[in-house]
Order: sequence, then C-alpha cells, then structure tokens
Amino acid sequence: MSRVKLARTLREPKELVERGLARSADLAAIETIATRYAIAVTPNIAALIDPNDPLDPIARQFIPTPAELEIKPGERADPIGDDAHSPVPGIVHRYPDRVLFKLVHVCAVYCRFCFRREMVGPGKDSALSDEAYRAALDYIRARTEIWEVILTGGDPLMLSPRRLAEIMADLAAIDHVRIVRVHTRVPVAAPARIDGDMVSALRVEGATTWVAVHANHPRELAGEARTACARLTDAGIPLVSQSVLLRGVNDDAEVLEALMRAFVECRIKPYYLHHGDLAPGTAHLRTTIAEGRELMRSLRGRVSGLCQPDYVLDIPGGHGKAPIGPNYLSHASSGEYELSSETRYRIVDYCGDDHLYPPKP
Ligand code: SF4
Repeated sequence: MSRVKLARTLREPKELVERGLARSADLAAIETIATRYAIAVTPNIAALIDPNDPLDPIARQFIPTPAELEIKPGERADPIGDDAHSPVPGIVHRYPDRVLFKLVHVCAVYCRFCFRREMVGPGKDSALSDEAYRAALDYIRARTEIWEVILTGGDPLMLSPRRLAEIMADLAAIDHVRIVRVHTRVPVAAPARIDGDMVSALRVEGATTWVAVHANHPRELAGEARTACARLTDAGIPLVSQSVLLRGVNDDAEVLEALMRAFVECRIKPYYLHHGDLAPGTAHLRTTIAEGRELMRSLRGRVSGLCQPDYVLDIPGGHGKAPIGPNYLSHASSGEYELSSETRYRIVDYCGDDHLYPPKP
C-alpha cells in the first residue's frame, strides 16, 4: 500500500486533490461541502489511507465525496436531539445521573458521518466562554444526582493539558461527581497528543477517569495509536470503545471482528457500536438496522464475549439510546407454552439454533 506522508493536517479541498486523497473531478463538490462542514486529515490518518484504493475504508471516513450533498428525508441538523435537553450552554442533561459537557467544538479530524457535524469545526463557536463554563459547573454542582460527567465536543483532548487539568480539578472538586468520562478520537487521529502531560491532566484526585476511544476500522488501531492507548491504560485509566457502523468501512463480519479483537488487544473494552445517526448528507454511510443486527449476530458466533459491544440507536428527538438487538429471547408459541405452568421462552444459541427454556421435562 502506498502511503501519503504529511507534515501537517490538511484542511483545504485543493490540498486533498494535490496529495492524491480526493479526485480532481470531485473538487467543485468538495469545495461546496467545505463551506458547510469542516475538513481535517491528520498525518496519522493520511498514512492509513491507500490512495490507490477507491474503496479505502479510512478515506471513506474522512475524505468528503459528492454524496454528502444529498440530504435525505429524515436527516436533521441535531439528529440525537441534544438541544432538547440543554438547560445551559455546553450541558446536555438527558439521563438523571449523568450529563454531557461540551467543552470545545473542534476535533483533530472531521468524520464525514459525524452526528454533530453542524456544530463542530473551526467556523463554529470554538469553546465555551469563561462565563458559560462557570454556569455549566454551577449547574452540575447544584444537582447531586449527577454522578458522571461526560466530556465531549468536539474532542476534549484538543484542549491543552494545562486547561484540561483545570477542568478535571473543577469537576473532581464536586463531591457527587465520581466519574469523568472523556470521549475522544485523538489517540487514533493525533496520538502524539497523548503525552505525559495529557495523561497527568486526565488523572485527578477525587474522581475516576474513563476514556472512550472512537475507532471504526482495525487499521486505525495500529502503531502509534496502540502506543497512545497503552500510555492511558498503563497510567491506570480504563478505556472503552465507541464505533459507528458504517457502510463500506466496517459493515462486514470479518472487519467488525478484527476491530473488536484489536480493541481488546489494546485493553479497550468494546462498549458501543452505534447505528449511523440521521446527520445530513450521511445516507451513503448508513447501513440498515437489519444489516446491523445480522452483523451483531455473526459477531456473537465468532468472538469472545469480551469482544461484544452493544449495538445501539440514539432515538431521534433526544429520547436517548436503546440497544437494538439482535434479540435472542422470545415467548414460546402457545402450544409449547401450555406444557408448562411457568412462562416458557424460545432462545437462540450462537449457532442460530432454537431451544426452549425451561426445557420440556
Ligand atoms: S471526532 Fe467525534 S465530534 Fe469530531 S467529527 Fe469525528 S465524530 Fe464528530
């Protein structure tokens, strides 16, 4: 595979064409896309792309294509309904015991399927003002039911270690905040940022830090990315995974299996496999739910329980996440049911075979 070696992050459509990462025939369309959605391809990500492969699964995630100009019915600017649950700027309070805290609106890279694509990027508000930050902290402080604060964005690891350390200390000083979870793509997209200072900033007395690492293809978890993840786990920070099921990237049983195995090898517990959200211009990257359930079923048959994420859908309108299967348990049919005084179920094993539970005597 020929690699593209970059000295810096590419942000301009023209540069993508010049470096062989986008087709010149697509330049006009990509320039139109760039007026609305941010572009960034870091050297680490570019090095993972095979520019000679028109179906490259890494390029599909980061290089814009004209398909993004097609907005499908049902797609929306705020696909998971953050705004409906935002009591003060920067905070999303959807579930009683936890809040999202959106600190920055920039990322190391911009994923073409991003569910917050209307809000992230250099053209948007880049960070919370000091006043808004203090108001968000006051909101958390006043609600003792908030056990967990999830730092998201944008990517919170785009903050300087010094600023991140201040924020971690502010949160850990709130007695009822016991967990600070950081959602990030930086270990994959810009692993050099995970240095000693960043690791120190993440560790804080008074709260436990968890980091959720976003990766979608096993190729993303190689080389420097593995080293960056190891720096976090070696420092005692537990890691969980976040992935999005994407057409042409990981909608394949072998690729999904390799991705989950790679997470576990990196000491990252597979946590969520998200069904693609209804973000504008992302239909070409979404699978159907039926395909997703079938892939999850095949994953259960192929790999250890350690490698099983939950397949989840964020319900549009802000109604939260729901696991969407596949289901392994159903009520037995009435004939089978009558044989028992207790409820009898039909359960499917990992090979796809049906069994009754409790079994017939
Ligand atoms: S890193 Fe996360 S927030 Fe940033 S563009 Fe990708 S999916 Fe969106």
